[in-house]
Amino acid sequence: MLTAEQTQEIKAKLQADLDRLGDHAQSTLEFTMDRDRDRIGRDSMDEATEEEVYSTQLRLADRENFLLGKVREAMIRLEAGNLDVCEECDEPIGYKRLLARPVTTLCFECKSAREQVEADERPE
Ligand SMILES: [Zn+2]
Repeated sequence: MLTAEQTQEIKAKLQADLDRLGDHAQSTLEFTMDRDRDRIGRDSMDEATEEEVYSTQLRLADRENFLLGKVREAMIRLEAGNLDVCEECDEPIGYKRLLARPVTTLCFECKSAREQVEADERPE
């Protein structure tokens, strides 16, 4: 169980992540709108390059949205008081680990075990 002080500290971290990711989602949206507005009068070379930038931007946005979801979930778990409970073994997750990575849902042991499985399944 986290102390009130530890909860506050992690909450501040999650909030900072939310702000950062939120800002970025906004600029991605602006980028998308600019792109549509500037469509007329480009040659195909420009368009190909633009397409590439655009898809990179979208991939980034996807990743950010994924992270944003994770951060929001962590915030909810924090409010519910079970952020530091490992979803796999119900053991407490260490505070230092949570502070370094507040969106984690696994204790160090379970995370290591899972990474080991993933490494084993990865094709050469
Ligand atoms: Zn665990």
